[in-house]
Amino acid sequence: MSGSAFILDGYVDEPACLGVPPYLSPYIRTVAGALAGHGFTVRYLTIDQLRKDPLRTAELNASDLLVMIAGVTVPGKYLGGTPATLTEIQQIGHMVRGPKKLLGGPIGLGYAGEGGEKAVRQVIGGFDALLSGEPAIALDNYLAGNDPAGALDYTRTDPWSIAGAGVVSQHPDFPYVMCELETARGCSHGATGGCSFCTEPFYGMPRYRTADAVAGEVAALYAHGARHFRVGRQPDILAYGAGAGEYPAPEPENVEGLFSAIRAAAPDLKTLHIDNTNPATIARHEDAARETLRVIIRHHTSGDVAAFGMETADPAVVAANNLKANADEVFRAIGIVNEEGGMRRDNVPELLPGINFVCGLAGETEQTYDLNEQFLARVLKAGLMVRRVNIRQVMPFEGTRAYTENTLGKHERRFKKFKEFVRTKIDLPMLQRVFPLGTVLRDVRVEVAGDLSFGRQPGSYPILVGIPLRLPERTVTDAVVVDWGMRSVTALPVPVRINELPASAVRWLPGVGKKKVAAVIAKRPFGDLAAYRKVAGGSVVDGVMEF
Ligand code: SF4
Repeated sequence: MSGSAFILDGYVDEPACLGVPPYLSPYIRTVAGALAGHGFTVRYLTIDQLRKDPLRTAELNASDLLVMIAGVTVPGKYLGGTPATLTEIQQIGHMVRGPKKLLGGPIGLGYAGEGGEKAVRQVIGGFDALLSGEPAIALDNYLAGNDPAGALDYTRTDPWSIAGAGVVSQHPDFPYVMCELETARGCSHGATGGCSFCTEPFYGMPRYRTADAVAGEVAALYAHGARHFRVGRQPDILAYGAGAGEYPAPEPENVEGLFSAIRAAAPDLKTLHIDNTNPATIARHEDAARETLRVIIRHHTSGDVAAFGMETADPAVVAANNLKANADEVFRAIGIVNEEGGMRRDNVPELLPGINFVCGLAGETEQTYDLNEQFLARVLKAGLMVRRVNIRQVMPFEGTRAYTENTLGKHERRFKKFKEFVRTKIDLPMLQRVFPLGTVLRDVRVEVAGDLSFGRQPGSYPILVGIPLRLPERTVTDAVVVDWGMRSVTALPVPVRINELPASAVRWLPGVGKKKVAAVIAKRPFGDLAAYRKVAGGSVVDGVMEF
């Protein structure tokens, strides 16, 4: 079978893989490569493009093959896109007529509408086959006339990741697409069963891609115009290429080989970030971890985040769920990443930790939340920086222990209070510490236009930037921080053209506020900074003003 094929991206989010825009998951690229290998011309469409323009269904109908990739196994909230719901996937299965229809990705593990709900394995009608296991391999087997199933095998997927790299240029966010790069699959903590809620141990013990394979893919993506990369598809980047055992020591030379090869393959890349980092690896192997963090910082771009799956500060919950690290280990790891990555480049810290909490795990009590709050207060008091605190309710999947052992629904009020505590008592002072007034954020790209436009920098967990101006979507601008929200900053485009700004934006200037805005507007135009200062006083944005 050959002809024209569509990949319909319903987006994926897994513990160690993100594919919600502006991220493009590795699945899409390897599937594109496998299709090309069978002689298909490949077109790419996102679920959001289809929602906006349902008439595009006609293009799907006219194709020979449709491969839909979807599935969210960790609950999240997204600005750049909305993952396909189960209803939408079923509708596509039934309403698209014409091509053979295949469905693959983590949707095969089950579906839940949001965190706090069990993910149930569903029979999804309307598709000709469910691609079981690794989508590209299952697809290749299917197209060769075999069962639509197959386990990951890098010797097969690596060439497809190169052959399918060109699909990046069809992404609606191109060239601001963040290419999620895979370096490993599976988790060493799985040696003792893994964390109770996590689906990564389904992939077995870690297998690593070679640095050459990753660099080959990066070179192909780069040749097609990609400039933003995240080495995010692995449970622990520090353990890249490490030896056996549940908590292997980092081998800095392996990480050096990987990152220098990526840099050589994409010399003018704009973003190179990381994601998951196991705090236990850092706490248990401090010297090797420090050296490896330095390697990453030498090669990456600043504003990077090492995401720690902490889940809880309660030792009883750690024990009940076989979690990888206890609170003291996480605290130590936060300190180490701050020491190695807290310095600023391009105005933002090089590399900061992020913390994930998962609520509703077995063994949780009301006191668990007290301990979580005390832990975060300790981090704040110690003067440490954390880029963001992520709080989710567990989404239990069949086959994980959390599927039958959890405390979902038992502490709802306390859970909400905990979230409120973090938003008001932790997030705000942390943002003030990480992004002080006057910080100029480079290359903020507007994703949502409105009287208050929202944008983000390309990167791992970029801060949400509210700009009190109507800016067209996709505008890219530097912006100076003038205030903070709970989980966002307010910023104005740089240079701040004081004589042109509308009053609704002038009021956000530090030192102006609601009180002086009328006076500032009345005295415009200002000829120079001194004239402005006479009315508004001096402030941290003086250096980026233009008259
Ligand atoms: S350490 Fe735990 S949460 Fe992280 S990938 Fe392994 S099993 Fe999953």
